[in-house]
Amino acid sequence: MYSFEYARPNTLNEALDILCSDVEPRLLAGGQTLLAAMKHRLTAHSTLIDLQAIDALRGVSVDGAILRIGAMVRHAEVAAHIEIRGRLPALAVLAEGIADPSVRNMGTMGGSVANNDPAADYPAAVLALGATIHTNLRDIPADDYFLGMFATALARDEILTAISFPLPDAAGYFKLPHPASGYVLAGAFVARFGDTTRVAINGAGPCVFRDAAAEGALSARFHPDAAAGLHFDPEDFTEDLHAGKDYRAQVLPHVIRRALTRALA
Ligand SMILES: Cc1cc2nc3c(=O)[nH]c(=O)nc-3n(C[C@H](O)[C@H](O)[C@H](O)COP(=O)(O)OP(=O)(O)OC[C@H]3O[C@@H](n4cnc5c(N)ncnc54)[C@H](O)[C@@H]3O)c2cc1C
Repeated sequence: MYSFEYARPNTLNEALDILCSDVEPRLLAGGQTLLAAMKHRLTAHSTLIDLQAIDALRGVSVDGAILRIGAMVRHAEVAAHIEIRGRLPALAVLAEGIADPSVRNMGTMGGSVANNDPAADYPAAVLALGATIHTNLRDIPADDYFLGMFATALARDEILTAISFPLPDAAGYFKLPHPASGYVLAGAFVARFGDTTRVAINGAGPCVFRDAAAEGALSARFHPDAAAGLHFDPEDFTEDLHAGKDYRAQVLPHVIRRALTRALA
């Protein structure tokens, strides 16, 4: 690991002051992705700005049909939170399935969504639910946020502060996990709002994406059988050590079916 300075601001403004004035600063949330990259010397930073002491980045609240979760809320808190389990159980189930207890007790929702790993779980929920990503500068609709592999609409001087999720009539998430890490090989989050269904696919390609054909089929019929006729072109899918692109394309209809079954349960 290259040497670096460490800062632990108590407010968002203090964090922004360092972020905007330092040479090569980096925000530190749970450190579950960033610290591993630094230990392998894949990345070097002048100062790590630890967000842990900033109260404004914490908290879970429900206002009408909107669930708001602070960026520094950890995966384990989402999994166990009574209000989330009651109002949006699919999100609690998703958080419960991330990695192992030690990662869940450190990793944060904001860190995961800022990182936008193609094999991460949260991006699928954020996109399928049509969430809003709040930052110190603006509110970003999920449809405009995920730009590509590890790429988002966040600017260099922007801190993700919270995410607001519209509460759906029904929602379900299912993933084929990597057996060791839990990262997604192919996953789907389905969310039903009135007569409309949104479907977000993660793990299969370089970035989470919505699938128009799946959304059309599931909007017409919100039933597991509606996934049977779906086909996915493997051309742009991920081919790696863990699974081939053809495999990912072939399992997706089954993954969507399982997500739908959960949404209806
Ligand atoms: C063994 C292992 C298994 C894992 N398995 C899974 C899995 O199954 N599913 C899954 O989804 N994830 C998995 N992860 C990743 C885990 O969920 C991490 O918690 C997550 O990727 C990053 O969150 P973090 O809070 O640790 O962020 P950090 O590592 O601290 O930061 C990640 C990046 O986001 C930036 N960042 C952090 N917070 C903010 C913010 N508020 N605003 C702007 N930028 C910010 C940082 O600067 C950094 O670039 C795994 C990790 C490990 C080590």
